Amino acid sequence: MFDYLIVGAGFAGSVLAERLASKAGKKVLIIDKRSHIGGNAYDYYDKAGILIHKYGPHIFHTNSKEVFDYLGQFTEWRPYEHRVLASVDGQLVPIPINLTTINKLYGLNLSSEQVEGFFESRAEKIDRVKTSEDVVVSKVGRELYEKFFRGYTKKQWDLDPSELDASVTARVPTRVNKDDRYFTDTYQAMPLHGYTKMFESMLNHPNIKVMLQTDYKEIVDSIPFKYMIYTGPIDSYFDYCYGKLPYRSLEFKFETVESESFQPTGTVNYPNEQPYTRITDFKYLTGQKHSKTTIVYEYPQAEGDPYYPIPRPENAEIYRKYQQLAAQMDNTFFVGRLATYKYYNMDQVVAQALTLFKKLTTKTTEPAYVHTAGAATNQKVALLKPNGVSKPSNGINGI
Ligand code: FAD
Ligand code: UDP
Repeated sequence: MFDYLIVGAGFAGSVLAERLASKAGKKVLIIDKRSHIGGNAYDYYDKAGILIHKYGPHIFHTNSKEVFDYLGQFTEWRPYEHRVLASVDGQLVPIPINLTTINKLYGLNLSSEQVEGFFESRAEKIDRVKTSEDVVVSKVGRELYEKFFRGYTKKQWDLDPSELDASVTARVPTRVNKDDRYFTDTYQAMPLHGYTKMFESMLNHPNIKVMLQTDYKEIVDSIPFKYMIYTGPIDSYFDYCYGKLPYRSLEFKFETVESESFQPTGTVNYPNEQPYTRITDFKYLTGQKHSKTTIVYEYPQAEGDPYYPIPRPENAEIYRKYQQLAAQMDNTFFVGRLATYKYYNMDQVVAQALTLFKKLTTKTTEPAYVHTAGAATNQKVALLKPNGVSKPSNGINGI
């Protein structure tokens, strides 16, 4: 009998497995339908021997000391500050837009104060900033919006920025200084030996069993457990009863090139002419030394693995209905980017999982339910004794 069945071995699932096993003495089965742990942060060495991220570039950054210290128990860190250039008007210029971007793009030599005036003179006055178009146009005006944001966003989301919540383009600030880092978080570092090694270390505990290449629907009726933690898409869990929640996908095209680096910085964004949004050169991120390098192109897609929840009011409305169903369930918990339909970075998912762990372990009563082998999917068997658990009635005592 497992205390917890955890669906999904990404950040959300692995953090909870680790905490529940090592801090609460719980027996955990964590499963993933993929052939590996790590979820979308999974990395591995390709044929050329270069460490690559299978699901696109993952750069760790956080302002949370708690999250950074927590993960630091499972990996050493390599300090890394990500920098991105955008290919605009035939030049490579810093994005987020900063002082250098403006001076290079327009052949000017403005100071920080002057560039502030430059932005002010072009910014459109918008009383209530609601959309991703409003965010940019109200800060830097329409011309820079067109050059850097409109085309990229259309490609990435297949929506005009005016159809997306403000939070999407608000991820990318505007600066009047020359700071060309993509992030300004207090902690910016990569796991020294990669994400997968970090996940292996998290899940390496006698109370944790890992099962891969298994959809939870295949085993949920045959393996007894008390609680489930679900980190997959929430609409799929509820059999799409309120319709499909849109998730945006990507196709990744990897190429190994015969030179130490391919481009001048970790990522180059292509807002306009190309069908892809960006190219990432992995060795900047990983710090690996190698005579070759591997790069990845990202081509946005409607179909495929669900990578991005799409933040806009109509989707939030559908999610709210699923969330209400989820809230009614006593022994299933929903956490992570797909299960809570939130455009979260890795550190936010870790924080969300740590919060759920605290909630689960400060409960005063023991689980009141047990999911028995042989029960229909999602059917719960209520036990009469709320504090005592929990031999399954059919005598199967776990695997
Ligand atoms: P996931 O990693 O998606 O894990 C969920 C797991 O559940 C998956 O492995 C899936 O196979 C499994 N699963 C789903 N359904 C089932 C089922 N029915 N049965 C069994 N298993 C199931 N964040 C950053 O902080 N920095 C970045 O630079 C960054 N870059 C990103 C780039 C891309 C292209 C993408 C897509 C995301 C990026 N992120 C980044 C976000 C980051 O990937 C997520 O925040 C994080 O991985 C979410 O973890 P999770 O556990 O919630 O979900
Ligand atoms: N964005 C853009 N141009 C850029 C970079 C970002 O228009 O050069 C917009 C785009 O809508 C993108 C969003 O800002 O989806 C968030 O960018 P971020 O780099 O955070 O995306 P992620 O790394 O999550 O894919």
